[in-house]
Amino acid sequence: MTAPGPRSEDLGARLSFDRGEPGRRAVDVPVWNGQKTPLPDAHLLRDSVTLPEMGQGELVRYYTALSTRNYGIDSGTYPLGSCTMKFNPKVNDLIAFLPGFADAHPQSPEHEAQGTLRTLLELRQGLAEITGLPHVSLAPAAGAQGELAGVLMITAALEDRGELEARRRILVPDSAHGTNPATAAMAGYSVTHLPTAEDGSLDRATIEQELDESVAAVMVTVPNTLGLWENGIEQVAELIHDAGAYLYADGANLNAIMGRVRYGDLGFDVVHLNLHKSFSTPHGGGGPGAGPVCCTEELAPYLPTPILEEGDDGLVRLAAPERSIGRLQQFHGNVGVLLRAYAYMRALGLDGLRSVSGQAVLNANYLRVLLHGHYDLPYDRPVLHEVVFSGSRQKREHDVRTYDIAKRLIDYGFHPPTVYFPLIVEEALMIEPTETEPPEAIEALAEALIAIAEESASDPDTLHGAPWTAPIGRLDETTAARRPVLSWRGPRQDR
Ligand SMILES: *Cc1c(COP(=O)(O)O)cnc(C)c1O
Repeated sequence: MTAPGPRSEDLGARLSFDRGEPGRRAVDVPVWNGQKTPLPDAHLLRDSVTLPEMGQGELVRYYTALSTRNYGIDSGTYPLGSCTMKFNPKVNDLIAFLPGFADAHPQSPEHEAQGTLRTLLELRQGLAEITGLPHVSLAPAAGAQGELAGVLMITAALEDRGELEARRRILVPDSAHGTNPATAAMAGYSVTHLPTAEDGSLDRATIEQELDESVAAVMVTVPNTLGLWENGIEQVAELIHDAGAYLYADGANLNAIMGRVRYGDLGFDVVHLNLHKSFSTPHGGGGPGAGPVCCTEELAPYLPTPILEEGDDGLVRLAAPERSIGRLQQFHGNVGVLLRAYAYMRALGLDGLRSVSGQAVLNANYLRVLLHGHYDLPYDRPVLHEVVFSGSRQKREHDVRTYDIAKRLIDYGFHPPTVYFPLIVEEALMIEPTETEPPEAIEALAEALIAIAEESASDPDTLHGAPWTAPIGRLDETTAARRPVLSWRGPRQDR
């Protein structure tokens, strides 16, 4: 007989309300000292409140068990493509927690907030240097919001040129991130999709064909979602400018190129960055983020409010650009994320940032080579930060889908990669190992994926039912989306 497994699984299965016994206490509250404090109005009080009654030991075990149900970058490799789930040095958190930063009130007068404001000014200057685009607003709270800011800036510039009525289209390659067409549509443009050329880059002929006076901008994800560099982007930039349109860069995956190539030098007019990805802030689950937008002199008057300026008196101030598109949110953006990015940038310096991108590219290519032959690789050329395989062979030969492969990876102890994106790759498995994984971790991930490729031939049913080891097995995702159960239904409903 095999020994039973660890009991911690069990511990997480019931809520605190379904545990303990009447009379158990985690903390002994001191006996009343006789002093009276007035109670709130009687109608605000309840006669009785059912609270869990647990000992401190039980309580600690309960929360510890619950905490282990989250898979995070601190638990293991997290190769979610395009998301840059890299390890974030803890020192950046400590710096953001320094009382001078963390306790500052967002409404404190500027002269009392000089430490924070100057730090943000230096971050702004660093980002201008890194992107080659001199004007920056740190306000956007996410990549997608930075995109929206950038497109609204283009809109405002076109309005000032008297061309807004005419230029109603934005061209977006089908290798762009999904937020790009969504942003263009939200800003009121119609989206024209550009097909990707056979080698995975922009198809120059279609761009030339589509470019005319109705085009406001072209939005390009650089590097693109196939993890590939856009060959000839400088020439494309010229074409676009000759046609009177703007060139937008989605720079969310800067970790592939930072310290090596600058958007401004390539001819981009505006770019947003994802500091929470490339500059080391723990992210996922919806936030927090920071998506600064950097632009040329021409677009600078339209930047979102606030921007940072240094006065002749040496004080750093928050300012509103002349023709600003306005505020995206209250106060100064997600300052905690900005501070982490600053600490990361300063700790590494330009040489360090350059070695980050080198390592990101090396890791993705190492994985590409290790998995070569085990999975189809539709765009078979050296990649930048990520590599997009296809599960189409496994589907064709063994009726195993990418979805099954991703779920099976959980049983091997890894977070699944991004799946079914980009849309131009059938059964896509988009893997970004990131720069912080050591070679052994990449080899272990490759071994797991190779074992799964073998299982898809020898034991497809195991894959169809995976995951088997997670606290919750395979969900009926359609029912979960259509008829979600949003409250806990535990064993002691009668309470
Ligand atoms: C993550 C990502 C975005 C969206 O960023 P959010 O901060 O999630 O809004 C946009 N483009 C690319 C290429 C990305 O990887």
